[in-house]
Amino acid sequence: MALSTVALTACNAPLEEEHPWIVDRFDDIKVIRYEVPHFEDLTLREKELVYYLAEAAKCGRDILYDQNCPLNLPIRRTLETLYEHYRGDRTPTEWKALEKYLKKVWFANGIHHHYSNDKFRPEFSKEYFDKVYQAVEDKFDEDLLKYREEVTHAIFDSAVYPTRLNQTDGEDMLETSSSNYYQGVTQAEGERFYAEMAAADKGNPHPVSYGLNSQLTKIDGLLTERRWMIGGMYSAAIEKIVYWLNHAEKVATGMQQENIRALIDYYTTGDLKDFDRYNIGWVRDTLSRVDFTNGFIETYGDPLGYKASWEAQVNFIDSAACHRTDVISENAQWFEDHSPVDPRYRKEHVRGVSAKVITAAMLGGDCYPSTPIGINLPNADWIRKEFGSKSVTIDNITYAYDKAAKGNGFNEEFMLRLEDRNRIEKYGKLADDLHTDLHECLGHGSGQLAPGVKGDELRSYGSTLEEARADLFGLYYLGDPHMLELGLVPSFDVAKAGYAHYIMNGLMTQLARVEPGKNIEEAHMRNRQLISAWCYEHGKAGKIIEWVRENGKTYVVINNFKRLRELFGELLHEIQRIKSEGDYAAGRALVEKYAVKVDPELHKEVLERYASLHIEPYGGFVNPEYELVKEGDKVVDVRISYPADYTRQMMDYSKNYSFLPNKN
Ligand code: ZN
Repeated sequence: MALSTVALTACNAPLEEEHPWIVDRFDDIKVIRYEVPHFEDLTLREKELVYYLAEAAKCGRDILYDQNCPLNLPIRRTLETLYEHYRGDRTPTEWKALEKYLKKVWFANGIHHHYSNDKFRPEFSKEYFDKVYQAVEDKFDEDLLKYREEVTHAIFDSAVYPTRLNQTDGEDMLETSSSNYYQGVTQAEGERFYAEMAAADKGNPHPVSYGLNSQLTKIDGLLTERRWMIGGMYSAAIEKIVYWLNHAEKVATGMQQENIRALIDYYTTGDLKDFDRYNIGWVRDTLSRVDFTNGFIETYGDPLGYKASWEAQVNFIDSAACHRTDVISENAQWFEDHSPVDPRYRKEHVRGVSAKVITAAMLGGDCYPSTPIGINLPNADWIRKEFGSKSVTIDNITYAYDKAAKGNGFNEEFMLRLEDRNRIEKYGKLADDLHTDLHECLGHGSGQLAPGVKGDELRSYGSTLEEARADLFGLYYLGDPHMLELGLVPSFDVAKAGYAHYIMNGLMTQLARVEPGKNIEEAHMRNRQLISAWCYEHGKAGKIIEWVRENGKTYVVINNFKRLRELFGELLHEIQRIKSEGDYAAGRALVEKYAVKVDPELHKEVLERYASLHIEPYGGFVNPEYELVKEGDKVVDVRISYPADYTRQMMDYSKNYSFLPNKN
């Protein structure tokens, strides 16, 4: 599972000419650079390992393009050819629009928006496209020329490949999705194919992840899987990935060396049992400082949920930040014993989840340029049950998001008091990190059910209440004096920063992500409004939280942080009771009263104020570059540098890491 992308309060100042962290911005996107702190502190062997794994991470980029839509590669190459060779006037609006379109294609790894899945609408005309094409036609290779008509259609005809992923109930989701996971297969056929496979394997406690690494198609009328492996589909790219994995294996040691071997076996045989073997080894290896993912991992892009997109990421442990999660984990029992819930609903014996904080060193495939801020793998249920999972948060990525948000005017617009803004500036990230750690490592695992309660009684309100429970656990302890004693915070100001931001977001600014006229649907957003609105209501008499109107604008301020923390405790007490007793009626009443409805006047105001800031809602990254430093044949160091040019990186990857034919 990829943990959500970042909860954006982020990103950009329209007036600021140069932002040190933002390297490009277009449409609804900003591209950020990230740093890799302490890379220099790795041993030479570890640095080399990062280098080889990073090369492997770049080699599968074409696979993802082709998975997203069978015409993505010829489209990207056509646009890149125009971009590289057109010698005409590059100042007209239409040229700029073409350039922007190409940047969006790079960002989404195809012609569909990475988040909404809708096909991009070109803001240049077909006539203009034809004119530019004509001008550089002699630069096209023969094979690419053959796609001219199909490419033109795909770009300009809105009826062609309208969406990457259609999940509308009642429609044939395979025929209406542009992804290349199924070819000429109806939804009913695809579902039957895998249902039969599962039925034949019934009773196997260790089932493989059926269908994960193949395209399902028809050959001579027969449903057939085309495996993604050496000698199979995508072979040319996979051979390169394996080439670099072979180098990585040579500098890896112990268990990790075996795991890399297992991954190479899997890419060579296409056998999903090899993939399971790799995953088990991977999850058991908790000691290697450098770690990575590389393969067909997440299935969000397949409407049926079988086929995985290719992704890669290389990272190493951030020991300083891990100290934070280690302290929290080691004190798990203390937190549980002091939790403000009914003692009957506390856990007697707590096992803290060991979550690691990592530094990303390279992003590839479906992790690039847009990337999750955390990862929890492997996905196979039986492996998770028998061997556990690894949960990581990626600190240098959240740090870069935070830096990129600096100066975007958001806090100035929505936060009334200077003291709050200053505290956020100083402690906002620490408060965020600690809250996430407490939420993930302890919050979800805390508490216990009353005898006879199964845990699914809250039904559709379950996930909102569960997120609220974990959030409240984090909020309550963020302001606990014990946090000071543990050395996790320097003062109560960290909690003040966290609380001010949380309540402002929950009562007001998160509405920027809700369409006009709509209620709040998403569980995390419901939970935030639930907590904030409940505390407002229950602290009303003492004006704990207050609405303020100034200069025709609405603000929310907190007048009593200590008392607010007690309110968090009281609500946690009640929500734990609801969960432990499976009290559906009370849970439903809480959510319906506080979490769902939106004040249309306030909503309108938030949308207008937010729009005036011109903040791009989506962010992604350019990668650092690594270079082997050699003396003769001997590698003596690995040098890292930070390019700040999105276009150049994309053109470079397309030139040097593109291995697949136009049609696969
Ligand atoms: Zn959660």
